[in-house]
Amino acid sequence: MCRCVCALYIYDYFIRGNIDKDAVFTQTKKLDSSFEFNGLRFRVNISLSGDVPVFTLRLIKNELPTFDELGVPDIVRRMMYQPQGLVLVTGKTNSGKTTTLNALINEINETQNKKILTLESPVEFKHKCKQSVIVQKEVGYGQDVLTYKDGVKNCLREDCDILVIGEIRDRETAEIAMQAGQTGHYVLSTIHTIDSIEVITRLRKIGVSDYDIASTLATSLSQRLVRRVCPKCAVKREYTEEEKNIINGIAKKYGVEYDFTGKYTYDTVGCQYCNNSGFYGRIGIFEILNMTEDVKELVIKGESSLEIRKKAMEEGYKPLVIDGFNKILNGYTTLKELNSKLVIY
Ligand SMILES: [Zn+2]
Repeated sequence: MCRCVCALYIYDYFIRGNIDKDAVFTQTKKLDSSFEFNGLRFRVNISLSGDVPVFTLRLIKNELPTFDELGVPDIVRRMMYQPQGLVLVTGKTNSGKTTTLNALINEINETQNKKILTLESPVEFKHKCKQSVIVQKEVGYGQDVLTYKDGVKNCLREDCDILVIGEIRDRETAEIAMQAGQTGHYVLSTIHTIDSIEVITRLRKIGVSDYDIASTLATSLSQRLVRRVCPKCAVKREYTEEEKNIINGIAKKYGVEYDFTGKYTYDTVGCQYCNNSGFYGRIGIFEILNMTEDVKELVIKGESSLEIRKKAMEEGYKPLVIDGFNKILNGYTTLKELNSKLVIY
């Protein structure tokens, strides 16, 4: 099925399409695009490994998960929506950043009358306008706009309320995101880094000034995905003393202590439903850095992420592992699974 769809895509893109394939490859050295076929939406990535083209095809789900389904805590939901400034979603590759970003757009779309412009490369989820008006533009050679910079200029001309920039990868994109955030827009984007505090280091590295970071970055959210235990075959049991010690040993460093009374965990088994993996579906674990006045002051002074982390912790910042423990104690996942993603013991 996948090969067949991929072949059709290539036919459509290169042979029937109006795009000059040589020019595209010369410009970008790769293709990252999305398309619809038979009511399904796919993302296709084509790159060269030596002289050999490598094709990756991914099916994009039609329905976006809600914040509840993603496991986004209420505090995160409240902090993520700001009147203006920049909110960044961060995480490793395949940590669900784009899904979270789109789930937030969806939530705003269902509840608020806003004008939203998205600049994406490529467009994955196609939003339908509900309460908000959403215009989605694809960025790249032969697409709606050539660069993010051009797209942002359009946005400022059209006076949108919310601007979504698919990913900040370079200084130019970071600077235009900052400019839009400084001129009364709510800007949402993703950036590739390990946690919400390292976003500051990453922005500094790509050339954004401490002043711009402190004045524009409102919140950064970091996330990972962990597998959910299979509801059909998982076996409920009490926590071992070793598990309790590991969890509370780490949690205490962040001012948290768990009471295991009446709490259970699960052993994964495997059945037909979960393809014998013991897990079914995934859930996000999250952490958030709120840019308080004290944190901004440290950023302006050029302090290291170590100092910023200390201050954030004094002000209640909780790292990914704490939300991971919350997800374990609520029965969504296991300590072993969390450790396989975060390496905590
Ligand atoms: Zn199962």
